[in-house]
Amino acid sequence: MSFFNKVAEQNKWKEKYLNLLDEQEQSEQAYKETEDLLCKIIIRLTIATTGLDPLLDPHLLSIRDQVKNGINSPALKDELAKFTHSVTQIRHTPPKNQPVEAELLFDFLLQQYRTEQHQNALKQLKNKAETVKFETANQLLIAILEIIEPDDDVSPTNIIVNQIDIDIVSRQLLLLLEGIEIPSIFDQQAQTAKQLLAASNRTATAFEAILDKSFKLLLKIKQHNQSEQQDIDKFLAHITEQLAALDVSLIGASTAAIESAENRSKLDQSVSEQMEALKLSSTNATKLEPLKGIINSRLANIAKEIQDHSQKEALQRKKTQQQLDDLANKIKNMEAESCDLKSKLKIANTQALRDTLTGLPNRHAYNECLETELARWKRYHSPLSLIVWDIDHFKNINDSYGHKAGDKVLQLIAKQLSEHSRTTDFISRFGGEEFTMLLPNTDSQSALILANQLRQTIEKTGFNASGTSVAITVSCGVTAFITDDTDETAFERADQALYQAKQQGRNRCCIF
Ligand code: GH3
Ligand code: MG
Ligand code: MG
Repeated sequence: MSFFNKVAEQNKWKEKYLNLLDEQEQSEQAYKETEDLLCKIIIRLTIATTGLDPLLDPHLLSIRDQVKNGINSPALKDELAKFTHSVTQIRHTPPKNQPVEAELLFDFLLQQYRTEQHQNALKQLKNKAETVKFETANQLLIAILEIIEPDDDVSPTNIIVNQIDIDIVSRQLLLLLEGIEIPSIFDQQAQTAKQLLAASNRTATAFEAILDKSFKLLLKIKQHNQSEQQDIDKFLAHITEQLAALDVSLIGASTAAIESAENRSKLDQSVSEQMEALKLSSTNATKLEPLKGIINSRLANIAKEIQDHSQKEALQRKKTQQQLDDLANKIKNMEAESCDLKSKLKIANTQALRDTLTGLPNRHAYNECLETELARWKRYHSPLSLIVWDIDHFKNINDSYGHKAGDKVLQLIAKQLSEHSRTTDFISRFGGEEFTMLLPNTDSQSALILANQLRQTIEKTGFNASGTSVAITVSCGVTAFITDDTDETAFERADQALYQAKQQGRNRCCIF
């Protein structure tokens, strides 16, 4: 699999992982909303039905309290069974208390908060409550509390309670306390406040104290909810950070050039399982704290999986890198060997085509060159001549001055032939004391002229053997290639011409 395919596959996995997170969030949100709605409905229903029958009231109150711990609590199920049992024994009685309108609360508040600012704000809110309708009592309460913050000069304790109906106000406040979600730490205080508000035969002074207590409690609940919101925000920010860190690890992993598909598939599976478990946990969770714990632990597991994966990858990368280095070294060595071999081969070829004594191309080289020149001659029909040289009485030189002297003569002749011929002419030591010359673009007459010039030059040069000047002469046969010639037929003619030169007394050039 190529690196780009690996990256694509990993990106696909990452997308899947992020989609799972999205799905989980949406599912969590939808569940929370449904649960909230359900709890509110239950609370409203228990409020609405309170007072219908004294047999049901304690159960309704208990259900209301239990619901605040979530709809899955075992205590709620237990209470529901008891409630069902009581319902079967209910005797129908007409409702004692009719629902109290929110209007009464505003009448109460307008009497308590008499500054112009409070009056205007409360009247505006009252109008809004009548027309718009707040979705929850909580929202209405928050709106009221925003108007009557505790730093206001007018304290609820300063109210003129005897101008209002204490029971109506108590009932409205009770309704508010029942309608809002009370955090468990305020359960006890809320319970006390509710009992005080529900009690009858209170004096105006006692009622002022109850009122004060209830308002302070409501303010504390509001502050607590705000701080819990901040906690949730912090927690979410923490999760976001962790996810960002995971993302960085994944990007790091995706840029690694060498990766094990097996390891990645294991990681994918493991992270998917963790995410599934996370999803299940969050779906079943009803409380933030335990959910936080579960999410943190799952995220830690995922992070560990990724860390393990990265370590495995690093090891794998190191191993593969080592293999690549070894391979690179081997290739380098092979290249060096191949270079060495090439140059040796070149030398060997050169040596194979050259005569070691004179440095001239040898007979093998002559044959190769002849093949090329013949092909060119046949194609372009430009003249091609051949001269075959032979040293005269060379055996005598060897015999008289020694073999080494003979070798020197061979070198001398080779030098003279090379130096006094054209660069296009191909000279070789054909064998023994015989030399050949191939002359491209040269007809036989021109070749003969050149041959005679060379012959004369060699004759003039002479050879110094142990202080004695020895005359050296050469003879040659000249021929030009003709139609249907082969290398052999042309050579035979040149050789015959050479024979003729020898026959005619040597130190001469003959043409055939
Ligand atoms: P001719 O004029 O008829 O050519 O007489 P020649 O003596 O040159 O001819 P021959 O063929 O009788 O002798 C050639 C000699 O060349 C014989 C041989 O020993 C000698 N020779 C051949 N190759 C070498 C060589 O590499 N070194 C030396 N020193 N002598 C060589
Ligand atoms: Mg000879
Ligand atoms: Mg000879």
